[in-house]
Amino acid sequence: MEIIKTVKEIQKRSDMIRRSGKTIAFVPTMGFLHEGHLSLMREGRNRCDDVVISIFVNPTQFGPGEDLESYPRSFERDCELAEKQGVNAIFAPNEKELYGKNFQTYVKLEDLPNHLCGISRPVHFRGVATVVTKLFNIVKPHFAIFGQKDYQQVAVIRQMVKDLNFDIEIVGHPTVRETDGLAMSSRNSYLTPDQRVSALSLYASLKKAQTLLENGITDAAEIIRAASELITSHPGTAIDYITICDPETLADMETISKPALMALAVKVGKTRVIDNMILDIPGSQR
Ligand code: AMP
Repeated sequence: MEIIKTVKEIQKRSDMIRRSGKTIAFVPTMGFLHEGHLSLMREGRNRCDDVVISIFVNPTQFGPGEDLESYPRSFERDCELAEKQGVNAIFAPNEKELYGKNFQTYVKLEDLPNHLCGISRPVHFRGVATVVTKLFNIVKPHFAIFGQKDYQQVAVIRQMVKDLNFDIEIVGHPTVRETDGLAMSSRNSYLTPDQRVSALSLYASLKKAQTLLENGITDAAEIIRAASELITSHPGTAIDYITICDPETLADMETISKPALMALAVKVGKTRVIDNMILDIPGSQR
């Protein structure tokens, strides 16, 4: 497995692989890898001849006061884990390599970032869209694999790829959970044992919502109320948002008459935890 730190080098490598007629799968990450990340790499391995991942904690997607400095890092361990999944190359630039002096071009979507996480993280999706654009131009993949755990992120990337005509297929991969249901996340390492128990209320509230829907409750406000009550009954939780919305536009839904996205963000102590699920009406056709 190659470890590459410069843009020039990885571009040259990708050009060679493309010239030889091989396909490239790409998995962008911020490192501190867990089973969720590794499942994306295996998905890439199944689809393509060559798998490239990036490890880069992207400063432009963090707002002031967020956890850029404290974001967990474990480069050596990440390399070992990636190699075991059959990854061919890791692109791990430093900040200077990606955002040189006088950087001034950003990619900003008009509507999708005005929902869900984008409301309390106003610069986040501009940072994500910008760095993913740069990484696409650098790694030149045929496929790029993203986790549905960050549902809005996948929606933003799909829209951007369509709007800007990137010749790349975006693959959304299901959320990988711990055995007790907690969605895996590098940020889970911030949680104390008690906070981790409180964080289980996110998945519990999603499952409860699905049960309510199956029992005939289609009023989104009523389901959101029940989910909020469940979450706030756990110590140390503060809800950022709970939304039931159209899975494509992310616009709020009042009544669930077709599959709907339920997404939520909750502060557990100082850690922001997110999760989501598609709520499905029993017997409905997707
Ligand atoms: P991150 O390192 O948090 O930026 O995540 C890198 C990629 O891994 C993104 O596409 C995430 O959506 C994906 N990812 C993170 N956690 C999970 C998970 N629990 N299950 C599936 N994919 C995940």
